[in-house]
Amino acid sequence: MTTTVPQPSATADPGRLSGLESRSVSAWFGSHKVLERVSLAMPAGEVTALIGPSGCGKSTFLRILNRMHEMVRGAALAGEVLLDDEDIYRHGRRPAEVRRRIGMVFQRPNPFPAMSIADNVASGLKLAGIKVGREHRDQLIEDSLRQAGLWNEVSGRLSTPGGALSGGQQQRLCIARSLAVGPDILLMDEPCSALDPTSTRRVEKTIAELRGQLTIVIVTHNMQQAQRVSQSCAFFLASHDTPGRIVEAGPTERLFSDPVDPRTADYVNGRF
Ligand code: ADP
Ligand code: MG
Repeated sequence: MTTTVPQPSATADPGRLSGLESRSVSAWFGSHKVLERVSLAMPAGEVTALIGPSGCGKSTFLRILNRMHEMVRGAALAGEVLLDDEDIYRHGRRPAEVRRRIGMVFQRPNPFPAMSIADNVASGLKLAGIKVGREHRDQLIEDSLRQAGLWNEVSGRLSTPGGALSGGQQQRLCIARSLAVGPDILLMDEPCSALDPTSTRRVEKTIAELRGQLTIVIVTHNMQQAQRVSQSCAFFLASHDTPGRIVEAGPTERLFSDPVDPRTADYVNGRF
């Protein structure tokens, strides 16, 4: 059997961080246009927060960033998404390879409940088609759990089922599963919405620790959370007859303290 140790990515230099940039991205479900020319730079090693009311296209945008949008029946898109200046939609580029470099964590923690903690982490590798030897596998599981801030809580019970963990621990387990593949980018769609405040703060601590190691894009409805975890922020808005678009984007501190657009001011101050 061949043994392949996963690298952060097939093409990037080790140690070099990758940024992501959308250029004029529009999206449709059938004839319903849900995003209109969204251009956003998500700088390498930073946390970018996407905020805005429900239905303005944040999750759709996130799915476009790792080629999951095209898995939805009737979905279409226009524009470019650049990872290290190369379009992830370039002709011939394989979606699976893109998804290996750009991982996703969802709102509801979704570990395999009956599978052991260790196997849950390793399942990310299996899904990505990465083979590792036994020794490497154990080390990778440990490293991923450490990175996700879960190792100290589970190191003595790696063979217990993932479903036995608390909600917050399950979410960090899902983060560990994504990290095991060695992604350059981690997309998080409201990762704390299903968690209590204490678990939320623990996940935020993990995000803070991951900052600088990889590039993170997080959707959140929690304005305090956006301010605590992100360095840059984009405010999305849609109305009944206009698709979602970015009203304003910039450094998080500036967007909250000195918004340019009155709609941003209303939203970040809870007047929406
Ligand atoms: P947000 O995450 O900001 O709440 P979404 O990206 O989930 O927004 O949704 C944006 C718009 O796209 C909404 O009008 C929603 O109804 C529509 N939409 C989302 N997913 C689908 C789908 N699978 N099929 C059809 N319409 C969808
Ligand atoms: Mg959403």
